[in-house]
Amino acid sequence: MFKKILIANRGEIALRVIRACREMGIASVAVHSTADSDAMHVRMADESVCIGPNASAESYLSIQRIIAACEITGAEAVHPGYGFLSENAAFSQTLADHDIAFIGPTAETIRIMGDKITAKDTMKALGVPCVPGSDGGVPDYETAKKVAQEIGYPIIIKATAGGGGRGMKVATSDEDLEVAFRTARSEGKSNFGNDEVYIEKYLQRPRHIEIQVFGDGKGRAVHLGERDCSLQRRHQKVFEEAPGPCITQEERDRIGKTCADAVAAINYIGAGTIEFLYEDGEFFFIEMNTRLQVEHPVTEAIYGVDLVREQIRVAAGEEMEFRQEDLKINGAAIEVRINAERLPNFAPCPGKITQYHAPGGLGVRMDSALYDGYSIPPYYDSLIGKLIVHGRNRPEALARLKRALGELIVDGVDTTVPLFDQLLNDPDVQSGDYSIHWLEKWLKKTYG
Ligand code: ADP
Repeated sequence: MFKKILIANRGEIALRVIRACREMGIASVAVHSTADSDAMHVRMADESVCIGPNASAESYLSIQRIIAACEITGAEAVHPGYGFLSENAAFSQTLADHDIAFIGPTAETIRIMGDKITAKDTMKALGVPCVPGSDGGVPDYETAKKVAQEIGYPIIIKATAGGGGRGMKVATSDEDLEVAFRTARSEGKSNFGNDEVYIEKYLQRPRHIEIQVFGDGKGRAVHLGERDCSLQRRHQKVFEEAPGPCITQEERDRIGKTCADAVAAINYIGAGTIEFLYEDGEFFFIEMNTRLQVEHPVTEAIYGVDLVREQIRVAAGEEMEFRQEDLKINGAAIEVRINAERLPNFAPCPGKITQYHAPGGLGVRMDSALYDGYSIPPYYDSLIGKLIVHGRNRPEALARLKRALGELIVDGVDTTVPLFDQLLNDPDVQSGDYSIHWLEKWLKKTYG
């Protein structure tokens, strides 16, 4: 087992990994930008290294500086968390070249899944059902028009290198196709350095259902059921739950096995998520994330597992402890993402936390790097905490979430907490009856 792990991230996810390390008797190294000198992950780790100025490009995204920090501290492995370098094939490769373990898949796997066209082709070949659409990339407007007419409007144009909800544009007719096509291409180019795009049928009322998978890198893999992340704003998840309120055990077993078999076939190592749109009882693959997801705690809650611990174990070459027959669902869990943002426009709201009190009690988990007096810097993501609740069933989890939100105090900055207070009173949320478009409509109705 590793003796020392460096965490190439910040905020709550850095804390999450440090906690797993501590329980496993592994020393942890935090890296940070100058803006994060007083951050909780720096305080909580056994050691810390300042790797650069505020800008992520010169700190958390600098492969060279992170390798240097490993060499200075003698860290044998790196956990990338999510975001930043977590799905960067060059990072995985450079670490391997320096004999430092990457706690995640190989550079080759990251490369395949990071290009959405290649990922879709790969999954299709492995028997995973996909959204109907173009056969690979669409080079020009004329071809786009032909494909769109074939599959029928509305369609969605996606940048093959896209992510985080960027590089996607919907077109409802030939008229708006041209602008949508150009915009998706230029967003792909400017955000991801790649202007290749493809086309998919735009589904009208699907749910976002994703399957958690885990592989040992030697051809064995399991699935840990699904998460329903349909409540989204601008294609970004805000509320996630497991199990999916509309998924039956039979469907879970079937799609779960398809996913586990697919990742086993590519010798996948570690945690991964296969994302689907789900409509009228059918699953349609959209993409795979080759890392730990923000919403992983809901899966941990209902399966009673520690995904980070298992990631570290298999990266160190140990046998995977998960066995499909042992993975059984217990109850229901919900996570809400708490951002430092001002409603109704969700404008980032960094600043000083004058008072922080985390909720507690049975079935409540608060993953946050906040503390009294902490100043949220303006340079990074606005996620400041994740509140996760677990109950014997969905109604109990909902009641617990309401109770826990009532205990939470975050003073000094605006947060998205009031959004959840209101959402929980909605009958559709209470019954679990919503598609990926539900929240946008609700926001318009509620905030105008
Ligand atoms: P990203 O990599 O940017 O997260 P995804 O391909 O995972 O992009 O899609 C993100 C979200 O966009 C989905 O959860 C869904 O809400 C919406 N979306 C993606 N593809 C489609 C589609 N074919 N039809 C309808 N909505 C879609």
